[in-house]
Amino acid sequence: MIKRSLVLLFLVFSISASAQELIPIKDFLLGRFDYKKSADFERVDSEYAVKPLYLNAVAYKAFIEMFTAAKSDSVSLKIISGSRNFHEQKNIWDRKWHKLDSLCPSEKILSILEFSAMPGTSRHHWGTEVDLNSLQNSYFEEGRGKAEYDWLVKNASKFGFYQVYTSQTTGRTGYREEKWHWSYLPLAAKYLEEYNSKVDYEEKAGFEGSEFALEHNIIPGYVNGIPQELQYRAFITGETKRLVQIESSEGE
Ligand SMILES: [Zn+2]
Repeated sequence: MIKRSLVLLFLVFSISASAQELIPIKDFLLGRFDYKKSADFERVDSEYAVKPLYLNAVAYKAFIEMFTAAKSDSVSLKIISGSRNFHEQKNIWDRKWHKLDSLCPSEKILSILEFSAMPGTSRHHWGTEVDLNSLQNSYFEEGRGKAEYDWLVKNASKFGFYQVYTSQTTGRTGYREEKWHWSYLPLAAKYLEEYNSKVDYEEKAGFEGSEFALEHNIIPGYVNGIPQELQYRAFITGETKRLVQIESSEGE
């Protein structure tokens, strides 16, 4: 366990560095690259997913470990969605936009943003995110879905995965709760930190309603609309504390 945590902390730095070498970091953060051609991404085996998809190779390895542990507890985890580039996110966005023809632009944006990100602002661009088993919160509230969700809440963090779009009752802003969306934070926490230092609103272009990104507070409200303890500095501090606890308990 110590070893894995140390490896995760190390990878936060090494993988983002290698991503920078291969793809300009800003293009990577905005999903403006072909993940199928990136050395940092891997195609997910059909055993783990409902359709052909890709993930960051490190997040994928961690997912396989989580999948295997869940399976031994009779819990099945299938990936519904993994990496999505800017173009794929734009298709989702523009399709939803045109379905809401009767609304004004601001109403359209707020409606789409309940569950879908603007192109260039999705964590799915990074290959660190997985949507699991169902895209309905209600699925996870009873029966098999509840057993799967309860397992994830208890165990996913051991493998580096966290629910970032939690209940909004704690004051979290942005997207509605998504019980299916799990983020591989040892990498994604760092990518969000990079996003905040490198990306601005001039990159929000090339899709329906992009000119309204600034007035809808997309970066502070949505991109950063995750729990405080999962923001980079808090997360790394938490990981370090966890390591110290593990080390001292193993030393006893
Ligand atoms: Zn998702």
